[in-house]
Parts: sequence; structure tokens; C-alpha cells
Amino acid sequence: MAIDTQTDQGFYRRMTCIVCPTGCLLEVRKDADGKLSITGFQCRRGEMYAENEVLNPKRVLTTTVRIRNASLPLLPVRTSDAIPKELLAEAMRVLAQVEVTAPVKTGDAILANLLDTGVDVIASRDMKRIDGAA
Ligand code: SF4
Repeated sequence: MAIDTQTDQGFYRRMTCIVCPTGCLLEVRKDADGKLSITGFQCRRGEMYAENEVLNPKRVLTTTVRIRNASLPLLPVRTSDAIPKELLAEAMRVLAQVEVTAPVKTGDAILANLLDTGVDVIASRDMKRIDGAA
């Protein structure tokens, strides 16, 4: 969890690094000129994590899309890589319009180049076609 504080001198965030189980407590200060100061990390990966979380946060999106001719009505999917956090809501709107047809294999591309990010949406599990489907 991150705790943000905005002051006249700039921005301050405390967060736990989630890159490895050590869980270092990171502190990021961004001054009025936009200069970052990061403390609390024990390695370069943690420093990069803090910098990206403040300047360009990204997340892997996991959700479901509708599927026809399968035993379940929804297929679990995820993005093949992290996408900018600010695009998550729009990505959910796009995926709400998607419907695929069974059979589907884990890793199959469901939607290519989601919102021009260069990232695909892929199936998270196999889903067979049910017997008797038209
Ligand atoms: S800063 Fe480095 S050592 Fe600390 S939690 Fe992050 S990755 Fe692990």
C-alpha cells in the first residue's frame, strides 16, 4: 500500500517494495522541479520499482470475456504484459465488448495490441467446446 502526501515543497510517497519478499519500505520525494529522491531500497530493482510507480505505474490486467459454446459463460483472460494504470478502465470497457467462441487454449491471443499498447490480451485457461454446440 502507498501513502501519498502533497505539500508546497512537492510530493511524498511511502510504499512497500513488492519486487522481492524482503519488502523494503521505500520513500519517494518529488520536489517542485520534478526531481526524484528515493530512499529505503536495498537494490537497484527496488529503486526502479519506486521510480516507475511514481512516474509511470503499470499493471497486468486480469478479467474475463464472454465465451460462446463453452461450459462456462466467461473466459478468464489477462494482458500479456503490464499496461499503463491509467488505461485500465478503458481496457475494461473494450473487453466488455469482446466475445470469443470455444475451444480456446491457454495463451491464445484474444485481442491483439490492446489500446495500441503493443500488449495482447491472452486466455488464462483452456476452455473446451461443449458437445452439441451449434
Ligand atoms: S528494494 Fe530490493 S531487496 Fe528491497 S524489497 Fe525491493 S527488490 Fe527486494
